[in-house]
Amino acid sequence: MTRQSAHTISREGYRLPLLGRVINPIFAWPLAAVAFSGLLWSVTEARLNQAKDAIRKNSEARADSLSKMHAERLARAAEQLDQITLSIKYYWETSHHGLRLDDQYRYGLYPRSDKLYVSIFDRNGALVTTTAGRAFPLDYSERPWFKAHKAVQDAGLLIVKPDFSPRLEKTLIRFTRRLNTPSGEFDGVVSLALEPEYIASITDESRMEKSDFFSVNHRDGTPLSLRVGHAAAATASLFHAQPAFASDQGTALYKADHFLDRKSRIVAWHGLQAYPLVVSVGLSEQDIFAAHDKMARDYRNMAAAGTVLLFLFAVTGMAFSSRLAWRKHQAEEVKSTYRLATDSAREGFYMVRALYGEQRHIVDFQVEDCNERGATYYGTTRNLLIGAKFRDFIPPSDYLEEVLNIFRRAMETGFYEDEFMVSPDSPLEATWVHRRLVRSGHGLAVTLRDISDAKAHEEALSQLANADSVTTLPNRHWLTHYLPTALQKATASNTMVALLFVDLDDFKNINDTLGHAAGDALLQAAALRLKSVIRPGDNVARLGGDEFTIILEQIEGADDVRPVAHRVIKTLSEPFVLADGNSHTVRGSIGISLYPQDGKDGPTLLKHADIAMYSAKAAGKATYRFFLPEFAESLMQRLNSETALRKAIERDEFVLHYQPRVDTFSGELRGLEALVRWMHPERGIVGPQEFIPIAEQTGLIVRLGEMVIEKACAQLAQWRAQGLPVVPVSVNVSALQLIHGRIAQRLASCMNRYGIDASLLEVEITESCMIGEDGNTIRELETLEHMGIKLLVDDFGTGYSSLSQLQRLDLDVLKIDREFTGRLCNGKDGDMFFMAILSMAHVLGMTVVAEGVETEEQLRVLQALSCNEIQGYYISRPVPADDMPALMLRRFLFPSSRPVLHVV
Ligand code: C2E
Ligand code: CA
Ligand code: CA
Repeated sequence: MTRQSAHTISREGYRLPLLGRVINPIFAWPLAAVAFSGLLWSVTEARLNQAKDAIRKNSEARADSLSKMHAERLARAAEQLDQITLSIKYYWETSHHGLRLDDQYRYGLYPRSDKLYVSIFDRNGALVTTTAGRAFPLDYSERPWFKAHKAVQDAGLLIVKPDFSPRLEKTLIRFTRRLNTPSGEFDGVVSLALEPEYIASITDESRMEKSDFFSVNHRDGTPLSLRVGHAAAATASLFHAQPAFASDQGTALYKADHFLDRKSRIVAWHGLQAYPLVVSVGLSEQDIFAAHDKMARDYRNMAAAGTVLLFLFAVTGMAFSSRLAWRKHQAEEVKSTYRLATDSAREGFYMVRALYGEQRHIVDFQVEDCNERGATYYGTTRNLLIGAKFRDFIPPSDYLEEVLNIFRRAMETGFYEDEFMVSPDSPLEATWVHRRLVRSGHGLAVTLRDISDAKAHEEALSQLANADSVTTLPNRHWLTHYLPTALQKATASNTMVALLFVDLDDFKNINDTLGHAAGDALLQAAALRLKSVIRPGDNVARLGGDEFTIILEQIEGADDVRPVAHRVIKTLSEPFVLADGNSHTVRGSIGISLYPQDGKDGPTLLKHADIAMYSAKAAGKATYRFFLPEFAESLMQRLNSETALRKAIERDEFVLHYQPRVDTFSGELRGLEALVRWMHPERGIVGPQEFIPIAEQTGLIVRLGEMVIEKACAQLAQWRAQGLPVVPVSVNVSALQLIHGRIAQRLASCMNRYGIDASLLEVEITESCMIGEDGNTIRELETLEHMGIKLLVDDFGTGYSSLSQLQRLDLDVLKIDREFTGRLCNGKDGDMFFMAILSMAHVLGMTVVAEGVETEEQLRVLQALSCNEIQGYYISRPVPADDMPALMLRRFLFPSSRPVLHVV
């Protein structure tokens, strides 16, 4: 599967759960809106229904009390009317028909109402007298109520349903009573006629609304009077079919379809005890609930507005949620992409979350995410680091508190950035770290970058830039920037500048024998002394090693410089007492160049002061020299050869030639001496005498010597591989190599790499090496001995060592310098010297080699003196490695001779 398709699949897999996660919050909004608006509506409706019920109950009670009140009033009115009929009956019967009703009316015996009429009919049904104006000759004998009274002796009061009176042109309700003769026979009827309006007028209008009604019915249901609102009604009843109110009293809701005007009403009724009359009151629901309906409308409007708001809110919420979900999705996508991108980054990335304790105080941070690099910074894996708290992987310390404080501050301010040196308490695996904290959500995005290398570089630079670390004097960098300005000032003021190049004469020796700490202490002391002898305005800089430069400004000529030079030499000549308690004398040599005569710029002046210094050294040290142009020539050659040698070492322009060493008697090959040659690209083969001294002076011998050892071992391995009968190879090492103490180490490493046995390697050292009794040298020689490497004393006789001294060091072979070999055969002295050495050496069990054997004669003498081995042109010159196999296979045949001298 390719990377790309794997990526796509993982993205698809990611999308599905995303949908689920996004849907829930989004659809929760409308669902919540529906639920809340449902609740709102049901509460509203319940409240309204409650209110309505309360109003209805209240209205029922009101209707009931109204009907009751009206029934009482009507009862009183009916009683009044009844009383009237009774009293008229009485007057009529006792006055023998002499009663004139119109007169009585006029006298106010009856209620003054043009709606109430009293009439008396005779036994034939003719109207006899009435309060309603003149009596008309009308026959009422066929009227049901007349017939009813005529037929029944004691019918009491009859209440007659309304009928139309053609005489008065009105609808009237009658209260009738039978009139009797004294003997009890039917004598007519007294009638009290009322307009329905009269009955209706007993209502309390003020308490009636426009659609409320008040009605009086006969118990059989016949409507007698009706008032709707404040006016008498045009119809007798509002009902389509007048209900007969069965019970004495009651309340009922009549729906709209019961009524002509199609308005529902709460109806309450009360029947009268003494009269067959029923009073009913109808309160229009429309009126009852008018206020309520208005309120309900308002409530519903409010609920509707609430619903709209809720849904608007839901829509906003949906939008917000989906945006949030999208953002989250994007953030996660960004995060994963970010990590994908940052996993290969050089920086460590971390997402950490703040952990709060009591009082909202941050107590710790937890790693929520990081990249692989971030984990390696802490020497762990991503899986182990994620979820870890700071306190888990930083031990409790001031450092932990400091880290927490920095992170807390970043949580407050939103940003923090610094570079810090890693504390030893920190688990961070770096020296210098750049740190950047950015607040994001409830935590911080942290970036760490290992800047150890850059810092080290920077520090080195800044050191270079300013002061010398050993002496705190300004350094070469400072000098190169200071000089141009100083020279400019001198030009401007028409004065001179002197540059004194000071070199400590025997400093190298101190450094090599006493170590760098002593060397540094000496340099510091020297720096102080130099500062003490110059004027306050002048400067001393250390250029490196044991080289100092003094800059004298505002001078008129060489005469101003000499006293300073004298003071410097004097102060440096005094011994330095170092930590070892011993005093050491180093002294100094000074080269002086003057601006403007010896150079127009800093580098030239420095170079010329340096050259003058060499001249001062050559003149015997502890002195000073002003620069002279002729110094330059000779010195330049030397300087050139040093650079050339350095380059030759870098380019490996050296080869080894080998010179055999053979047994004096058998001529057998005993060993080969490796002698270095410089294959100069222009000059051809250059011998060691030309460059070894420079290599020793400059210290380049150390590297050169290592190259020789390497080459010798490689050569041995090659000869052995060629199946040649290999013999030990000796290498020459100089004193400086032994002082550096890296010969044994180098030899061991080469032996190991080339598989060379210690018996095949020998080291040639000169007598002078052992004179100093340098600790390193002695240790080095002992190590070589332990390794089983033979030590040969080279050029024996030229130094001053005694044989007993050599024995102490357990040296194996003495190579007598060719100067002595050359003296053989020239007189007794030479032979005597050889004899003395040989006899002593043999007592000490040492092998003696004669160097520089050039003639057969010399060989014979050496044979006679029992010298063990010889080396020299007589046997062979040093030859390139390629020429060696032939010599190895050859046996050097000597003229046979017996040893002539035996010293026991
Ligand atoms: P040395 O160690 O005394 O080496 C012997 C020198 O004498 C060699 O000179 C050799 O060519 C020369 N010689 C040998 N037989 C005769 C002879 O019969 N007559 C005469 N007149 N000379 C003879 P070379 O190779 O020029 O070496 C000179 C010196 O350079 C050596 O003296 C040795 O001290 C030094 N040298 C050579 N190679 C190395 C090296 O690898 N390391 C060090 N430190 N010094 C080396
Ligand atoms: Ca040698
Ligand atoms: Ca030698």
